[in-house]
Amino acid sequence: MKTLILKNVNKIYLTNKTLKFYALKDINLSFGSSGFHAIIGKSGSGKTTLLNLIAKLDTPSSGEITLNGKPYKNNNRVSPSFYQNELGIIFQQYHLLEESTVLYNVMLPLLMKGYSEKEAATRAKITLKYVNINEALLNQKCSKLSGGEMQRVAIARAIVKNPKILICDEPTGSLDSNNAKSILELLKKISKDHLVIVVSHNLQQIRQYSDRIIELSDGQVINDYYQSKIDYETAKEKKHKRKFNNWISHFSFANYKRRIKRNILVATSLSISIIMANLVSGFMYGKDKSIREACYRQLDFGSGSVSQEELVSNSGMLKLVKSVRPELTTLNKDPYISSIFEICPNFSAILPQNIQISYDEQQFDSLLFTPIYSYEQGYINQSLLYKGDVPKEDSLSEIVINRNAYKKIKSTLKKNPIGEYLSLAHKIDVNYVVQDGEYITDTFSFNCTAKIVGVVDELSYLSSPKIYYSYLALQSEMQEQVLINLSTYYDNKITWYDRIVNAENYSYLSSYSYQLFLKDIRYRNYLFDVDIFRSDFSFTSSSLIVAESLVGFLDVARYALILFLVISLLGAIFITSVMSFTNYSEDRKKSAILSSLGAKNGEIEDIYLNESLISSLIATAFSLVVSIPISLIINQIIFKKISLTNLIVIPMWKFFNIPLLYPFLFIAAALLIVGVATLVPIKFSKRNSIKGELQNND
Ligand code: ADP
Ligand code: MG
Repeated sequence: MKTLILKNVNKIYLTNKTLKFYALKDINLSFGSSGFHAIIGKSGSGKTTLLNLIAKLDTPSSGEITLNGKPYKNNNRVSPSFYQNELGIIFQQYHLLEESTVLYNVMLPLLMKGYSEKEAATRAKITLKYVNINEALLNQKCSKLSGGEMQRVAIARAIVKNPKILICDEPTGSLDSNNAKSILELLKKISKDHLVIVVSHNLQQIRQYSDRIIELSDGQVINDYYQSKIDYETAKEKKHKRKFNNWISHFSFANYKRRIKRNILVATSLSISIIMANLVSGFMYGKDKSIREACYRQLDFGSGSVSQEELVSNSGMLKLVKSVRPELTTLNKDPYISSIFEICPNFSAILPQNIQISYDEQQFDSLLFTPIYSYEQGYINQSLLYKGDVPKEDSLSEIVINRNAYKKIKSTLKKNPIGEYLSLAHKIDVNYVVQDGEYITDTFSFNCTAKIVGVVDELSYLSSPKIYYSYLALQSEMQEQVLINLSTYYDNKITWYDRIVNAENYSYLSSYSYQLFLKDIRYRNYLFDVDIFRSDFSFTSSSLIVAESLVGFLDVARYALILFLVISLLGAIFITSVMSFTNYSEDRKKSAILSSLGAKNGEIEDIYLNESLISSLIATAFSLVVSIPISLIINQIIFKKISLTNLIVIPMWKFFNIPLLYPFLFIAAALLIVGVATLVPIKFSKRNSIKGELQNND
């Protein structure tokens, strides 16, 4: 029975575009399932070309080749199972995987076919014994072997999978005559139950082993004769189920170790961008809460003034409005305002911020004199303080300062300000028109000493040095201070408080509108969450302005961070792509050897994919671990600089309430990005051909 048949096979090369050159012409040959078939001929006669066609390393220009009745497809795609089961190739240059051991080289074709590691090892050992490789060499790296040993290992690797055809191109070309002899004896032994086709230019050396001699000259068969009768015998092969294959990971890890420096570079660049990504996402996750907390520690956060716009004139294009004090009844009717705010008269009309504050003749400039509603619990508590205590009762003789004021006063006094007394003084003349051209002047004066009892732990960034006084305490002061001149004029006792409350549209006083205080500090989140001032009112609060500018600043910081992240990510992707492409290109020959043993293209790509994925796993794990301490350190620095707490919060343990979702997402994203960065350049790179990589064109 004939297994391999070549019918009218031609191989034509075009020299100079038009001139045809027949490397093989009209080849008609058939082979049975065993025997030692020698193909001989001078150099250039077409021997290698013929072998390449049989081994599917090349395609014929015309004609047909059939194996067991099935014709070869005339394309460059060879099913890996062809090399796994049908055909083994032995090269003159051996082409062993030199960094792997003797045993592993021989196990490899079996592992590719799905044998277990244990069974592959057993079979490989038997085969190595069959080709006379000493057991002591099994765990030796192939690079350490002699030429004869290498060729025997190569033969063992080709026959261990029990292929139907064994193809050998000048198998003894690089060996001395003794070694050549033993290799030919070995091939002879194998040819008892395999079809062995051996190419040689040395008829003398090969003649005594050959059952058949085919002689080529100028691409044509000029002689074809049998020296002995061949007994056909076919070996049956069990099918092996494919299981998880670790030969791929074997090479991935071996490559990883071999190129450790390069892989450390890849892992480092990935780590940098993953740490960046962690910090940026931690920043996005943490910043709103951080700003909120900063604002909540701002003692005047819940206070501000409210006003309303009134149309003055509307002449088409030009619309003039002025800010007026809204009616108290209108304010009280607004469900949001009346339910969360205390609506109070605004004393700032007669109590401008430039009140004189001094200690022992020393003046303090730019300390803001700022109201909070009351010193009672619900407006201020010990947890808001950085030092000192909350005043016991609402009185103007006790004050609280913020951290910036603390620093300022401390540096002037050269001692701890807590417990020290400041003197507060203010004097203002207010004129009233009572009749046409007639004025009445009253003087408001304010003189007291106030003890500094506590320091509020406020965000120092953007917030000015402040002294907080109790609004309720000032209110009772106002209720007691009588306007002497006005009272005399109207013959009725009028206090400052009455005058301000009833100011109505007296523009000098009324333009300051009402002062609003949150009824309870627990309502602070309404300032963020509820759009209270959507309507006709406009609310001005120095703290809300601080909060807004902080939000604006952090938004800008976010863009800068994202830009950094994108740059570092692109850098890491670029490095990963270039490195894995370099790895892949460097190993073209190795990949060609694996292909010649029956590895699929996808499997070879997997080796390089895994190599990158190892880097990405190491980098992700490392980055996730170090990101936390890095974020804590950055938070510490930010806290020291601007007292913003917990700006970066990496939701490592719980994200969207799902435990460990965050690291899982990070690992998945890193694997995906790195996988794409690795595979895309490999996919686009030229496919390696076994023939091109492994044959030295002599
Ligand atoms: P052998 O192995 O018998 O020495 P080859 O089969 O390698 O000979 O080559 C047969 C002829 O085909 C030679 O003349 C060689 O120059 C020619 N040949 C081989 N490959 C190519 C090619 N890719 N393009 C053009 N000519 C080629
Ligand atoms: Mg040749």
